[in-house]
Amino acid sequence: MKLLLPIDPFQLTQEFGENPNMYKKFGLKAHNGWDIKTKYPDTPVGQRYIIAPQNVQFYKQSIDPPGYGIYFEVITKAKSLWKHTFAHCHSIETFTEKKQGESMAISDNTGNSTGAHLHWTVKKIKILNSQHEVQDYNNGYFGAVNPQEYVDEVRNYNGTQPMPNTNITIEGSLYEKLVGNSTKWDEMVKYLEISSDPASTSFEDVQRVVAGLKSRITDIQTQLGNTQAELENRMEQVSRLKEQVLNNDKLRGELIQKLSDTVSEQQGMVGVYEKRLKEIQGGLEAIARTKGELNKALLECKSQSTIEQLTIADVLVLLFNKLKQIKLK
Ligand SMILES: [Zn+2]
Repeated sequence: MKLLLPIDPFQLTQEFGENPNMYKKFGLKAHNGWDIKTKYPDTPVGQRYIIAPQNVQFYKQSIDPPGYGIYFEVITKAKSLWKHTFAHCHSIETFTEKKQGESMAISDNTGNSTGAHLHWTVKKIKILNSQHEVQDYNNGYFGAVNPQEYVDEVRNYNGTQPMPNTNITIEGSLYEKLVGNSTKWDEMVKYLEISSDPASTSFEDVQRVVAGLKSRITDIQTQLGNTQAELENRMEQVSRLKEQVLNNDKLRGELIQKLSDTVSEQQGMVGVYEKRLKEIQGGLEAIARTKGELNKALLECKSQSTIEQLTIADVLVLLFNKLKQIKLK
């Protein structure tokens, strides 16, 4: 049987069973699927069409911010029934069925994802008592198997491309019985604004309203995805601003250091000048003292010069002797 891969071109970035430590927090043995590259020159952000690998039936879509982000599930059929989960999406189309090769959604980077990629998990299921039952649920991956098993089964299976039909249908009589026994029916129908007369509300009316609600949920999920992307942008801006503030703080610290260095340098200079000033003052005092002694000596000389027999030469000798005495002190 022909098989298409969900992303074209197809390149794995993380294998099944890798990085056990990273997946412990999710209760998993290791990576529970395949991670597929979605960033290419024509989709630089990683928003690439997710293609139906076979004819698929829509099963579920939901949002899980700390894990899969925006994700959806479809059922395919080869020899077995398979349930596929595609995670970290940007948006999901509203559909109940898609033919092989048609696009189902657009990949992205929502949820627990460090970069844009498509996460693909496959589980083998069975229909049991009108319920989907995952096979080998306790295998450490909640039933997820290496997607290679699915790929091999489809490629080796000789059959036409079937549209899986796993709809759990409720028979008209059972529906009436359920409605008849329901105590909340009137309330629920009023809440859904289906009809003023709950008794005449048909199964189709309920289906139509629920389908409308489902598509509204999809819209809201898309909006949520956009908001999340914007939030991430804002967070990036905040961290950039934080970095700037830190840089400014560092710069301020450096300036303060430089200023205080300069001030202490100046204070050192003041000390040096004060010391010099003291030395100069000491010198001046010494000079003043010498000057006083010289004056005294001169006065003595003058008093002696009044005696007539002293010659000028004698006066000079006296003065010289006095000077010698001062020096000796
Ligand atoms: Zn993954």
